Amino acid sequence: MSTVIVVGSGQGGFQAAASLRDKGFSGRVVLIGDEPGVPYQRPPLSKTYLAGTTVAEKLHLRPEEFFATSEIELVSGRVESIDRANSAVVLEDGTKFEYDHLVLATGARNRTLSVPGAELNGVLTLRTRDDADKLRSALEAAKDVVVIGGGFIGLEFAAHAGRPVTVVEAQDRLMARVATPEISAHFARLHEAAGTKLLLGKGVTALHGSGGAVESVELTDGTLLPADLVVVGVGVVPATELAAEAGLRVDNGVVVDEQLRTSDPAVSAVGDCANFPSVHARCATRLESVQNAVDQARFVAARITGEAVPYTPVPWFWTDQLGAKLQIAGIGTGYDHIEVSGDPAAGKFSVLSFMDGVLVAVETVSKPSDHISARRLLAGERAPTLEELRASDFNLKEHLKTLVA
Ligand code: NAP
Repeated sequence: MSTVIVVGSGQGGFQAAASLRDKGFSGRVVLIGDEPGVPYQRPPLSKTYLAGTTVAEKLHLRPEEFFATSEIELVSGRVESIDRANSAVVLEDGTKFEYDHLVLATGARNRTLSVPGAELNGVLTLRTRDDADKLRSALEAAKDVVVIGGGFIGLEFAAHAGRPVTVVEAQDRLMARVATPEISAHFARLHEAAGTKLLLGKGVTALHGSGGAVESVELTDGTLLPADLVVVGVGVVPATELAAEAGLRVDNGVVVDEQLRTSDPAVSAVGDCANFPSVHARCATRLESVQNAVDQARFVAARITGEAVPYTPVPWFWTDQLGAKLQIAGIGTGYDHIEVSGDPAAGKFSVLSFMDGVLVAVETVSKPSDHISARRLLAGERAPTLEELRASDFNLKEHLKTLVA
């Protein structure tokens, strides 16, 4: 194999290129991204970078010299098409790069709000460093801030904005897509105690403004919320256009097999854009997390360099809000029973989710040792059952000890 082209220089794309070198790949590696500069990490953008306690250089995944010394060609540009017949990608400016293997790490893009007024000035979103810079300066000048969406972006923004904001969420609870009701309720209490106004179960019908700038948000119940800054965090859509136009199979992401190969074995896909058969989700799924992007990228690099290992890492996620660290191990959607261990009122507890009597996910709030134990248990050949964990009083660390004893 002589040339690997990686499209997308986010966490997954960067990791694929870096891991190829770690694995001793000696061919050409080209990493193409549409943002200028060296690849950077996104998680701090809605946390410490927003709050001003992390500076831009600290976001870099590696310093600039790394790319030269590792012989990773970093190309800034937008790939316009994939010419599979000639095994090449074509950039907007007509530059062509031929590949022996192509890795798609095109990620996702933010869903836009499809209501009148969504294009007004003062309506911002958050995905890139540039978005975060704009948001930071808008926040300094803003009087009334409304956040649309009570998911990770909306809540991390609310927690790190440094002032009370209003959050409008269409679902009747926070982080409903990824968390159990117990976790949603805990974070709702934390946010309300910090002065966040939560409007749950409310949709947005229009944004109103004058002189091109937003002035208010109209809700489905007719309420008008004054707003000179509106932050939209209503989810993402996978960036699949390139793959679809190239005739690759696309269905809620670029469809890949258990080896993360697309319908063309010369093309792999990793991270937010890839829909893969997950042993932990027990179905085909697309995961939006740093862990998933990094582990899939490492896996593909290992596969390209000849290692035949199955892709089975336990998915995990985290968020920091108002002094509480939520860590999720496993896929919690699709459970029929939960157990709470610890005391939510004390701010340290775990929620264990079970399906058909078997542990499928563990959410921990400020209990990192439970999170680590959960990841080890879920990575085992057989996940523990409800009865086994009941015998350890749902203490994951104690249960682990019984396994090694
Ligand atoms: P998200 O987690 O999907 O949350 C978006 C929320 O907004 C959903 O609950 C959604 O409800 C709601 N919503 C959608 N349309 C709405 C509307 N018109 N009015 C009010 N609420 C509406 O997505 P996100 O918070 O935007 O995050 C974007 C991406 O960044 C995700 O991939 C996320 O995983 C990632 N991210 C991750 C982290 C982390 O892991 N800590 C932190 C930041 C961002 P429905 O489900 O009904 O659409």
